[in-house]
Formats: sequence, structure tokens, C-alpha cells
Amino acid sequence: MSTRNIGIFAHVDAGKTTLSEQLLVHSGRIREAGSVDRGTAHTDDLPVERRRGISVRATCVSLEWKGTSIQLIDTPGHTDFSAEIERSFWALDAAVLVVDAAQGVQPQTETLFRALKNQRMPFLFFLNKTDREEADPDTALKQIRKKLTPEVCPLWNPEELTEYLCGTSDELMVRYLDGETIPADELRERLIRLTASGEACPALCGSALHDRGIAELLDAMVTYLPGPETGDSELCAVAFAAARDRSMGRGLWTRMFGGRLENRMTVELRVGTNRVTGEPILVQRKISQIRNAAGEDTGVLSSGEVGIVYGLGDLEIGHVFGNPEKLPRKVQPGTLKTPLIMVRALPEKPEEMQRLREACAALSSEDPLLEARYVETTGEMVLRIMGRVQLEILEEMLKTRFGLTVSFGEPAVIYRETIRQRATGFVAYTMPKPCWAVLEFDLEPAPRGSGITFSSVVPGRDIMPRYQHQVEQALPLALSQGRLGWQVTDLKITLTGGNHHLIHTHPLDFIVATPMGIQDGLRRGGSVLLEPVLEIVFTAPSGCAGRILSDVQQMRGEILDTAADGETVTIRALVPAASSMDYPIQFASLTSGKGSMSTSLHGYRECPTELGKTAPRRGVDPLDTSKYILAARSALEGDIFEF
Ligand code: GDP
Ligand code: MG
Repeated sequence: MSTRNIGIFAHVDAGKTTLSEQLLVHSGRIREAGSVDRGTAHTDDLPVERRRGISVRATCVSLEWKGTSIQLIDTPGHTDFSAEIERSFWALDAAVLVVDAAQGVQPQTETLFRALKNQRMPFLFFLNKTDREEADPDTALKQIRKKLTPEVCPLWNPEELTEYLCGTSDELMVRYLDGETIPADELRERLIRLTASGEACPALCGSALHDRGIAELLDAMVTYLPGPETGDSELCAVAFAAARDRSMGRGLWTRMFGGRLENRMTVELRVGTNRVTGEPILVQRKISQIRNAAGEDTGVLSSGEVGIVYGLGDLEIGHVFGNPEKLPRKVQPGTLKTPLIMVRALPEKPEEMQRLREACAALSSEDPLLEARYVETTGEMVLRIMGRVQLEILEEMLKTRFGLTVSFGEPAVIYRETIRQRATGFVAYTMPKPCWAVLEFDLEPAPRGSGITFSSVVPGRDIMPRYQHQVEQALPLALSQGRLGWQVTDLKITLTGGNHHLIHTHPLDFIVATPMGIQDGLRRGGSVLLEPVLEIVFTAPSGCAGRILSDVQQMRGEILDTAADGETVTIRALVPAASSMDYPIQFASLTSGKGSMSTSLHGYRECPTELGKTAPRRGVDPLDTSKYILAARSALEGDIFEF
């Protein structure tokens, strides 16, 4: 059976959930559409989603239409951070972008559209809510052409469609102008090709709530959107989401791009990198069960398919099985994890801290945008999250899934830091014997957003390549907190000097020495505090413009541009995360719920020190030399540098 792996994207309230329900009904998968408004939708699976009427978790449902199996891979709706949108692309071959025909193109629609274009994802538009009086598909279409792309083909308007398609080919144009009626098949073939290559987007309209245009949409999904490319026998797959089953435990939603996975198969997984040797840490795990997207225990997943694999334990979302070269899109699990806010979690009963630790570990392994860590020295559970809404969802999940009542402290922004001026960092780790590692670094401030780069100009006869490699391995750890206590970034590091000693150098000395040398350089360079800055697009009734502009000023923000379009105004601004954390609530009341905010991380920028915060140092400061050396040596077997 041919398949389609499709994601439905929409701005909040455009009707994504309602549409998914209708697609299920039409395919015969369910008898009656659940309702978002009554809290009975099948694709919103957490109690908190039902109560709030929002979707927070990516889910996948499977349906069949005219002999094609369609996997609808739901996309998270509680954040409009573009990184998370792109994560949901990993499993997809194509998409449907839902636009509310009454409201038209929203800022969030533009964000989604840009992401789809960037990733060259074939997709079609569905203009929803045409039952509403103020909705007009042709007006919405005009807006799409103006704000998003001229390359959109309304399937409901045959003349316009023909004209558009003929305009894309000289040969067709000549025949069209000659008065020839171009056969429907030929036009369809042309549109299929243009859609697949991202040169055109078919558009349909209808009403998810009143069940109009749904069969046409299913037809179009099967006809115009491409299925997976199959036939490659080399294993290539990506784990794109986590699932949990009462008896099977943690499962991984997996998309196959090549080869196959089978029940009882032993797979070798790379679970990390050895800090000392830099070698990959490989473990062998046995697959204990495989279910297809419809939830059936099929025991096998083949190229092109989506399903759940059990038995692989705590594997990270974004894990790639087999050859990563065969992935159609870039998968970068690490870079997606940029939580901006830090908050303490406290169990109601102190004796439940251990259970809270386990629950948080389970949740963070499912959600790449949640980091949880227990700080031994203070006995606190610290969570790193994206925003306030996520907290509410967490609270609910801890309660319903783990029976834990938890309170949270005041959320605080996670800063970063860099140095003010170029500096040398030096360490001679030669005491107390036996040890020998001498290092000299050159630290140079680098442009914002450039991160850390490392190179060495030291010959191997001075510091053996094996030891130089250890220095590089120890860098992330050495930079995990700078002199202000925040992660260090935007730095060009060069190893400029130093030496090993043929007799005295102990195998791990360079690992112990690196943080001392780096911290010495950071101290000399002087600290600069960096704060996360968001790009926010506000859309609101024009009457609110004045207030928004002054609020942005108040928040130490900066207006990028404003545009008025009749009754609504769109304002694009850069605003520090620290000062805008609570603004969504104010904004909602200011606009009486008629406005919308679309947020993405713009980057980190220098922040006035008097506003900035330092973070308490975790672990022993490498500049507190004798204490540090003692701690490092005695804990070498364990996770010593867990700052
Ligand atoms: P989502 O946030 O994109 O998942 O949107 P929902 O499916 O939750 O729908 C948001 C609201 O719009 C709900 O109150 C739905 O009942 C309503 N809605 C969805 N589709 C339609 C439609 O075709 N016509 C009308 N009039 N309302 C709709
Ligand atoms: Mg929804």
C-alpha cells in the first residue's frame, strides 16, 4: 500500500485539531468526530490539552483513504519557536498548512510558511472555516499571494488553476493561447511535479467543523503530496518523539528512511562520547516490540514507514539509526535544546524528592525542550524550560501521570557570558606530584552567535596529539560556567603553548588542567553578561498600537517595523526574554484576546551588568586551585566535572 507521512500545521485556533478529527471520520477510522469545544477530540490526548483546548504533544494517527495509508503526524502547538516546528519535520514527507479563511494570514502562519519553505517541504493550503460569514476563500487567497507566495493554485477555481499552470510552461502557454483545451490529466501531472519540487502549492477550502471540503482534501493529499522514497536497503531512521506504554515502557516514534528494523533485533546505539578518550560510547539494545502508526504490533518497520519501537531505553529524541547521510533533512538534537528560563521545582512532601527526580527525568527524555537536573549541593530540582505555559502543562502532567503535587519557584532567565577583551589563560599543573600539564590559551571575543571555536598551534612534540585531543574534549565542561556562573559563548580559543612531561604526565592530567587554564583566561578577559532576546511579532487591533509601542520601550525592547493593514497592525520588535516573560498575559487583556504574538529566539546580546544576574557556582571553582585539584583527582572515576 502506498503511504503518505503528513504534518498538519496551523496557527493556534485555525482548526488543526478539528480538521484531524474530520479526516479520521471520513476515512472511517472513527465513527464520530470528537470536539475540541467539548473536550472530546481524539488527537488531543492529555487532560490538560482537553481542558485548555490546546494541543501540546506531537501524536501520530493513521488512516486510510482510497487504498493509501496516511499518517497524520500532529505538531505541537503550545510554542511557536521555529526550532520546535522544524523538529516535527523530521518524520514528514509533506504537509498541510491550515489558514483560517476568516482571519486570514497570521504572523504565526508566516513563521510556519517560512519554515516549510526553508526545509523545501512540499505542502498544500487548506483555507478553513469557510462556513463563517466573514470568511471568503478568494480574499484569503489574495492575502496568501501578497504576504506569502504568488505560487498558489486554487483547486476550487478551474479557470484560474489552468491559467496559472499554463503560465509556468512556454509550451503549455502557446497551446493555451491557441485556444486548445489542455487535458485535465496533463494539468494534474504538471501540478504534481511543481508541488513536489516546491514550485507551487495547491490550495483548497472548506470547513472542518461542518464537514465541508474534507473528501477533496483527502483526495488532494493522496494526489498532489509525495509519499516516501523507498527502496534503499541501508539502515537510516530517526527517533522523532517519545511514547509511553503502561506495559512496554518508553517507546520511540521512529521514521524509517532506509532499511528495516525488526522485533528482537539487536541494535548498536551511540549514547554519548567518552570524555577522556573522545571515543563514542556504544551500547547494544534489543528491540522488544514494534508497532505501526495504527498501534498494531507488526514486529517490523520498513523504509518509508512510521511506528513505535520499544526496548531501546533512554535514547535521545533526534537519535539517528544507521547512516545519517541518507536523511532528507538535517537532524540536530543538541541545538534544539535552548531553554531560556530556569525554575526550581519543589514536591509538596519533602520525602517525594526522589520520585520527583525520576518523574522529571522521564518527562525530559520525552521533551527536548525540557531539561531537568538535580543539584546535589543544594538538594534542589532545577528545570530549564521555554516559557510559562510549559510550566502549567508540567504541573498537570506531574499530577496526573505521577501523582505528584509540585510547586514552582519564580522563573529566572538563563543568561550566557563572554569576555570583554582578548586575554591569555595559563596553567602549570605540576604540583602536587605526580602530575604534569602546562597549557597556554589565547582567548579572543568572537561575533555574537558564533559560539566557541577551538584550534591549536602547538606542535605534537610539545603536547602529544592525544593530550591535545583531551584538552578539546574538556572544553565544553571548562566553559559550562564562566566567571559569572553562566555558560560561556562567542569565543575563539587557540592553544598557543604548553608541554607534557615524558615521565611525570599522568594520563588524565590535561583533563584536570584545562578548566584551570580556561578560567584563568576568562578572569583576565573580564566578563560580559549576555541575555536572550526574542523577536516578537504582535498582531493586534490598530487601536492598541500606541500601548504596544510604549510597552516594548518599557521592556527595554526595540521596534523593528510596524505595518498597518486596515483594522489590524503588525509590530515586529526585539525584546529581552527577561522583561517579557509575563507580557503574553498583559497583551491578551490589552487586546481583549483579539491579538496574537509569535515568538522566536533572536539571539543573545550584551546586557547592562546592573540588570544582570550571576549564577551561584556549582561545584568547586577551578581557580580555587588546591581545593579543585583535590576534588578533581578524588572524583576522577565519577562525574568529576559536573559543575
Ligand atoms: P487548533 O488550535 O488549530 O487545533 O484549532 P481547533 O481545532 O482547536 O479549533 C479552534 C476553534 O475553531 C474551535 O472552537 C473550533 O470549534 C473552531 N473551528 C474549527 N474549525 C472550524 C470551522 O471549519 N468553522 C468554524 N466556524 N469553526 C471552526
Ligand atoms: Mg488543537
